[in-house]
Amino acid sequence: MYPNLEGKVVVITGAATGLGKAMAERFGAEKAKVVINYFNEEQEVQEIIETVERAGGNATAIQGDVTKEADVKRMISHAVKTFGTLDVMVNNAGIENEVPSEDLSLEDWNRVISTNLTGQFLGCREAVDYMLQNNIKGSIINMSSVHQEIPWPHFVHYAASKGGVKLLTETLALEFAPHGIRVNCIAPGAINTPINAEKFADPELKKGVVDLVPMGYIGKPEEIAACAVWLASSEASYVTGITLFADGGMTQYPGFQAGKG
Ligand code: NAD
Repeated sequence: MYPNLEGKVVVITGAATGLGKAMAERFGAEKAKVVINYFNEEQEVQEIIETVERAGGNATAIQGDVTKEADVKRMISHAVKTFGTLDVMVNNAGIENEVPSEDLSLEDWNRVISTNLTGQFLGCREAVDYMLQNNIKGSIINMSSVHQEIPWPHFVHYAASKGGVKLLTETLALEFAPHGIRVNCIAPGAINTPINAEKFADPELKKGVVDLVPMGYIGKPEEIAACAVWLASSEASYVTGITLFADGGMTQYPGFQAGKG
């Protein structure tokens, strides 16, 4: 637990499901004040608010599309109006779809880039602007992926977006380090969330993924939430511009395991 997160105001995008939900609940357990952005999952959100509040935190929800500038501005102003300030911004919302690159439509390309990369840019920009104006030494966490490093055929838009998130994060970290604003990303490997539901429902496809993980299992959303609270906390006070890989070793060339190669 990180006592200094108590009372901190945290905005999380795409927080109605998967990693966003797990992070909202973990920040709640840290007694933070959590703004849960959701896209179209109004039903799910009430339960998350209750979980956060039962754990001793506070929570509020706001619908919004991260690709829309006005919506992202609204998320920050909702946080400030409801809880008085903004300390932590988690740009988590993201999407993917499988298409061989020769068939990838411009529409699909734009949809993924605008959600995963432009959406994170807007979240970073609005958070930094608020933090600068209010002299807040805040923390920004961007949800990247092992595919900021590992090429991924049939997901070129996704891989390109996450590669972009890496340099977005590093550039902003450098730019705002003198103001004490830290910007980092988390790169999960394969985690059990709705984004992978279809794939993991098929035992053969699931095994294919597990075989790429040296630690031999699919990660739990809570294992990513644990990274987020650490990065947001004062325990990570000297950490900026990093990618925290939480991938069971997936980026360590699993093909070379057991003396192969
Ligand atoms: P998920 O599908 O459960 O969560 C994605 C969330 O983003 C959903 O709640 C969805 O409603 C929201 N969203 C989509 N478009 C949006 C928009 N335009 N505006 C606002 N919200 C929007 O999947 P997840 O695994 O929890 O994914 C969260 C993040 O983690 C994504 O950025 C994803 O790329 C990343 N990630 C996930 C894994 C994994 O294995 N699960 C691995 C690496 C990275």
